[in-house]
Amino acid sequence: MAAVAFIGLGNMGGPMASNLINAGHAVVVFDLSQAACDRLQVQGASVAGSAVEAVARVDYVISMLPAGKHVAEIYLGDNGLLSTLGASVTVLDCSTIDAATARRVGEAAAELGIGFMDAPVSGGVAAAAAGTLAFMCGGGADTFEKARVILKDVGKNIFHAGPAGAGQVAKGCNNMLLAIHMIGTCEALEMGARNGLDPKILSEIMLASSARNWSLEVYNPYPGVMDTAPASDDYQPGFMVDLMVKDLGLAMEIAQQCDIDNAMGQLAAELYGQHQRSGNGKRDFSSILQKLQNEVAP
Ligand code: NAD
Repeated sequence: MAAVAFIGLGNMGGPMASNLINAGHAVVVFDLSQAACDRLQVQGASVAGSAVEAVARVDYVISMLPAGKHVAEIYLGDNGLLSTLGASVTVLDCSTIDAATARRVGEAAAELGIGFMDAPVSGGVAAAAAGTLAFMCGGGADTFEKARVILKDVGKNIFHAGPAGAGQVAKGCNNMLLAIHMIGTCEALEMGARNGLDPKILSEIMLASSARNWSLEVYNPYPGVMDTAPASDDYQPGFMVDLMVKDLGLAMEIAQQCDIDNAMGQLAAELYGQHQRSGNGKRDFSSILQKLQNEVAP
């Protein structure tokens, strides 16, 4: 069993740290929120007074923070964690952040001989609690082998996407395509419904045909078609529109940096931005169906 420092105990980090404790690891936690630390202490974690204190004498450092600026602040600079860590420590940043910051932290770690991976996740709070997250890792092969040892206790599918930053690029690609096919699925179902088709039967037809996709399979956006989907629970998240907009922003940055003409991705980002600005940020991302239903075609 390993000694693990876990930094960032929010909706995702809290249950992940909890699963590490349940797997028998010695977990020391730190979060700016005392309440978040207290919750983990009850479950068996030690609580550190600062991030620097948390990472003293551990084998792994795992962070789950909101955005790139938080990750840069924690790891880089004269007072950053990298300057205090020994070369035997493996650092895994599971936050969803911009690929450029992930590469920057990865390069700074490499200069110090520290193994670093960006390891963003797919799967929301439910998957974090169930320990079934998918990890997309960017970093060296040796570090990936060390990462796997610990990530298997918090996730189900662990992929090595490539060098530092590759995990964030994989996540951007995945979520851009998710946004596009969710909107496409909504358009197809609404078009069928307006022509008198039952969305449930149309879904069955498309699931057995070439339009089959994840949104139809496990996350049908039409209310009443799938009992377990957020659409059948007034679009309670699930995966919030706010998070989809954040992830699409990161995907658009990646697209700009490689000069791709991603017209579909840009349109999906624009439509989700409009939906968020209409007050739907805290609703599930499949509620984009209602934007389509409420608007009149130009
Ligand atoms: P959250 O806001 O619930 O948690 C973030 C935590 O980080 C908070 O507890 C906050 O106090 C803490 N924090 C911020 N700055 C800190 C610092 N300097 N030191 C210590 N703690 C600090 O966010 P979340 O929903 O847990 O998401 C975390 C990351 O996971 C994000 O990058 C998000 O995009 C990604 N993600 C979230 C989901 C989801 O469904 N919530 C799914 C996949 C990926």
